[in-house]
Amino acid sequence: MSDTCNDTSTGTMGGASASRTAMLEAGLAPYAAHASLSRGRRYPELPPAARSEFQRDRDRIVHSTAFRRLEYKTQVFVNHEGDLFRTRLTHSIEVAQIARSVARNLRVNEDLVEAISLAHDLGHTPFGHAGQDALNECMRGHGGFEHNLQSLAVVDELEEHYGAFDGLNLCFETREGILKHCSRENARRLGDLGERFLLGRQPSIEAQIANIADEIAYNNHDVDDGLRSGLLTIEQLAEVELWMTHYDAARGEFPQIEGRRLIHETVRRIINTLIVDLIEETSRNLARHAPRSLDEVRAAPQIVAHSEGVAAQAVALKRFLYANLYRHYRVMRMANKAQRVVKGLFDAFSDDPRLLPPDYQSPDSESQPRLIAHYIAGMTDRYALKEYRRLFVVADEV
Ligand code: MG
Repeated sequence: MSDTCNDTSTGTMGGASASRTAMLEAGLAPYAAHASLSRGRRYPELPPAARSEFQRDRDRIVHSTAFRRLEYKTQVFVNHEGDLFRTRLTHSIEVAQIARSVARNLRVNEDLVEAISLAHDLGHTPFGHAGQDALNECMRGHGGFEHNLQSLAVVDELEEHYGAFDGLNLCFETREGILKHCSRENARRLGDLGERFLLGRQPSIEAQIANIADEIAYNNHDVDDGLRSGLLTIEQLAEVELWMTHYDAARGEFPQIEGRRLIHETVRRIINTLIVDLIEETSRNLARHAPRSLDEVRAAPQIVAHSEGVAAQAVALKRFLYANLYRHYRVMRMANKAQRVVKGLFDAFSDDPRLLPPDYQSPDSESQPRLIAHYIAGMTDRYALKEYRRLFVVADEV
């Protein structure tokens, strides 16, 4: 995984393509990730005809199979619980929207930030974190399972779309952004991509933005979905300062509104406050550290951040959600069921790999558990439930 080739450097680019790249990158700050300076793709490719390299990455992600599966993967609520809850797909789109707003203000690469945002959850198992925890437990002793690393495996190996290579062959900077965290052991295995975890260096500004945009998105849409489901109440949220400040402001401006309209007026104010604060504090950090290139961003401390006061408010909201929504007994019941499905599938396939579709049967027992993990991780919620019924329910379809 460590072999990248700098096929996209300006040095190898033709005149027309170089001037198109210059046009596409006009207005970017020096600390932004420039596609023309990319550390390249693992397999050399000709430059794209009418897009930047990062646009091409974004387009490959949107056209991938794993991206379409996100529609049927749980964020917090399982897909069949209601039509209006967030799924991994709508979550990823919201992350991209927030990240692009921030990126444009900071004059960094919107295409890259969008590519990272849309790809960041590609490796999620069915049933959200409950599914990942169960699969990690099953994979104990076989290298474990981590959705972040799985997202990378999807774009590096698992997608089967192109004649010349497995995976999507994305640029280094996109892959770097997808790999948000990783153990030292895995970092050593990942070569140049893992290096920063061993050296304590940062990823690009774009990757840092996508990471915080993820938190802004889920904190807000989980409040919204929590209220929609009735698992959370407005009265409970009175203890959350960030919520109350904007709830009062919304009521002050529109005393006649209530219900969903009032919730939305509150949530949009919270999102806006978090985005504006993130832009302002990051601008201060950029002025302080004055990075003149992506390399200097990597060597600096983390630059994209909330101010201390807003960060504390966001943490309080997160804690509230953890205690009141993610640990709600109705969420726990679904999580428990999900774990049973994932574990049941894993055990059945491990006991008899002949039950697996042929593509996932390994010639050697050593690599079989990882192939089973790939198969299960790729399932949508409803596919996993269907597969479970196929294996365990007598007289059902086969
Ligand atoms: Mg996410």
